[in-house]
Order: sequence, then structure tokens, then C-alpha cells
Amino acid sequence: MRNVHVVVVPYPGQGHINPLLQFAKRLASKGVKATVATTKYTVNSIVAPNVTVEPISDGFDEAGFAQAKNVDLFLKSFRSNGSKTLSRLIEKFEHSEFPVTCVVYDSFLPWALEVAKRHGVYGAAFFTNSAAVCSMFCRIHYGSLRLPVKMEDLPLSIPGLPPLNCSDLPSFIRLPESYPAYLAMKLSQFSNVEKADWMFANTFEELESEVVKELYEMFPAKLIGPVVPSGYLDGRISGDKGYGANLWKPLGEQCVTWLESKPPRSVVYISFGSMVSLTQEQTQELAQGLEETGKNFIWILRESEHTKLPKGFKDSVKEKGLIITWCNQLELLAHEAVGCFVTHCGWNSTLEGLSLGVPMVGVPQWADQLTDAKFVEDVWKVGVRAKEDEQGTVRKQEIIKCVKMVMEGETSEDIRENVAKWKHLAREAVGEGGSSDKNIDEFVDSLKISAAVDLKICNV
Ligand code: UDP
Repeated sequence: MRNVHVVVVPYPGQGHINPLLQFAKRLASKGVKATVATTKYTVNSIVAPNVTVEPISDGFDEAGFAQAKNVDLFLKSFRSNGSKTLSRLIEKFEHSEFPVTCVVYDSFLPWALEVAKRHGVYGAAFFTNSAAVCSMFCRIHYGSLRLPVKMEDLPLSIPGLPPLNCSDLPSFIRLPESYPAYLAMKLSQFSNVEKADWMFANTFEELESEVVKELYEMFPAKLIGPVVPSGYLDGRISGDKGYGANLWKPLGEQCVTWLESKPPRSVVYISFGSMVSLTQEQTQELAQGLEETGKNFIWILRESEHTKLPKGFKDSVKEKGLIITWCNQLELLAHEAVGCFVTHCGWNSTLEGLSLGVPMVGVPQWADQLTDAKFVEDVWKVGVRAKEDEQGTVRKQEIIKCVKMVMEGETSEDIRENVAKWKHLAREAVGEGGSSDKNIDEFVDSLKISAAVDLKICNV
């Protein structure tokens, strides 16, 4: 049989590289050769067993996105440089033992599908958001949801989704004029998707069945998530305890040693992902709130954000709090000492909290995080969402109240029960014969069959 070779192309951000790389590892574990094609700036941050990593170019090889003047410029440059260099990569493999069979591309990069088609290989779009969020942008693309959303239409009623208020809408929909480049990118995901041979979404049947039922005709994606390292779910990929991609240096051992000394479920873990930068006011409210809960905490705060902390804060919390710049989030969430995840509700973090069974306090800031937080609180009931005041800041009393709600008392018991249920369902979905596992198998099988047919044609 001719070898099956899948080239996976992520958008070069932490929240995109992680799930696409993990998907590549999953494919490799099912006998497929998997290559991740990523920008020169990120290529050295990725090390994963059984996955080859190859560079392509976004035109900003020294510092990536930070080097570009704005999102628009970055995306345009990635489209032109990425198309050329991805094309060359596919050509490089053409006469090798592993010609490329399929390009699985981040749906933010629809040009990668055009490249795949020009080379006569399959193309599959990978959506890194929840199905609920995909549903909204998909409906805008096809015209059944119109922008701007009118006040009198709120709460918005979208088939399969709970009624959505203004604060539940992705910011690109809530304030379309504020983020034109991002809104255009979100909509461009659907621009050529009908030409894709497969569509994948990082979610699972049981989690978003209502949404998906209403969406399938418009968006026939195979649900293959949660795409989280196997060591925390089904355990079928040996030693798979991290994504294998870190754009910042993780401080693993230090955290784990610290956690070992803490009682079960006593620690609050706080992270706002790789992109969010809180205002100084918000940082200070959060800091004071954390201190006043009296709980132990680990706070992931990038170096550039440390100046926003209240004066003397680090000293006054040094017995109770660990503030570090980056970690292997999964390792911490999986630790029995962690009892609460204060999160910005990025989609990966949300899935990770849910898959590892950690109750959440959602403090969403922008983009899809607002919708994810709505689902965390009202649909899956695995946490609460902290409410902002009129100035858009979550005050310290609110932080204290929310942390207590998920860690103490009656509400916390209900939340823990729910989160345990979702953890179990997530494991089942990706485990042998689970809904996501079957979808991945179907994809791999059809690639294998087509590679076998190709070989026959070549031999005739
Ligand atoms: N993450 C990590 N270490 C940290 C903080 C975050 O490994 O200290 C990972 C986290 O596990 C997740 C990703 O970074 O997979 C962040 O993705 P998410 O979608 O939650 O947020 P984004 O960074 O895209 O806003």
C-alpha cells in the first residue's frame, strides 16, 4: 500500500498549534505519517514524537506576528508566503516514499486548501472553536444571521444555542466595526470550505449535540475532540502528557513540587492563555481578590504583565501564591491539589478544564471567550462566570464570590458532579470506539483506501 501522509498546517498561535499538533499525533498513532508545517518563527518550539516538523514562511521569519505591523498585513503576508512555501513542501515529498495525501489546515488559513487542490491532494479544514461559535460565523456567512445585531433582536435566538445576550456574543459579532480584520478572517473560514474534502471541529458529539444537529446541513464537520494529550484522556498514546509546543519556556517542576505540598482541591489555578493582556485595574482587582480568598494559588502571568500587580503583592502572598510566566497547563489541571481554574475561557482551556474535571470561574475578555463562558455556566454547568461592573471590570468581591462558589458549599458540589460527568464523556468520546475516535478512524480509513487505489492506478 502507498503510505498515507498528512501535512497539518496550524495558524501560528499557541491556541492553534496545540490542537492541530495533537491531531497530528493522533493520526500518527493510527499509522499515518504526520508532518506539521509551521512558520519558521515557531518551528523550533515544537517537539513531538512521531511527528515531523517542517518550516513554511509567513514572511516574518524573525519574530512572527509581533514583527507584522497589524493583523491585516500579517494575514496577507502569510497567505502569499505560506502558499508558496507550503507548495514547495508538498513538491519536496512528491517523489519520496511519502507523497502528501492530504493537507489538514487551520480553518483560519483557507488558502492552504487552494494549495492542496493545485497539487491534487485532499484538503481538510480544522476548526479550533466550539461548534456554537462556528455556528454563528457560519450563519453570518450564509446570510441567516445579519450584522450588526440589533438591540431589539436580543436575546439572540440561534437554532441549537441557548438565548444569547449581548455579553454572550463573540466580540467580533458584538462590535463588528472594532475588529474588521478578525471578523473578515472568521468569515473567510467558510469562503471555500465547500471544496474541502473533510471538515473537523475540536469538540465532541455529546458536548454540543444540540448545536450540531441544527448545523449539520450548513456545516457537515466531523467532531474529533477534545483534542487534548492522550495521557489525560484515553491513554492510548504512550507518554503523551503535553502538547509538545511551547512558545514560552514552561516551569514544570517548580509548580509540581509546590503543588505536592498542598492539600487536595485547595489551589486556584489562574491563566488567561497566550494572548490576553489584562488592564492594570483588572490585574489589581484579581490580585486583591485572590489574596482575600485566603486560598493557595498559581497564577500564570507573562513577564510583561508583572508591573501591573499591586505594589508589594508578590511579597505579601509568597506563602500562598506562586506567580510564574508559563507552565504545562495540563499537568497542573490534572494535579489533585488544584480545585478551581480561573480562566479566560479560550476554547482549548475550556476543553482542558472540562476534560480534566476542574471546576471553572470564567473571566472572558474578548473574541469567542464570551460565548464559551456562557456555555460553561449555563449549558454544561461546570463553573460560574464572573460578572463585570459597568466599567467592564470584574471587581475583587466578585472574584472572591465566584471562587468560593466553585470551591465551597452546595453549588460547588453540583458543579463538581457535572464536571466529573463531562470528564467521563470526554474520555469516552476519544477512547476506542467513542464518537470522536470513530470519526478519526473513518478519515484515516478513507485516506488508506484512496492511497491503495492510487497505487493500483499508478501500477496499471
Ligand atoms: N497554556 C499552557 N501553559 C500556560 C498557559 C496556557 O500550556 O501557562 C496552553 C493551554 O493549555 C492551551 C493554550 O495554551 O492549550 C491556550 O489556548 P486557549 O485556546 O485556551 O487560549 P488562547 O491562548 O488561544 O487565548
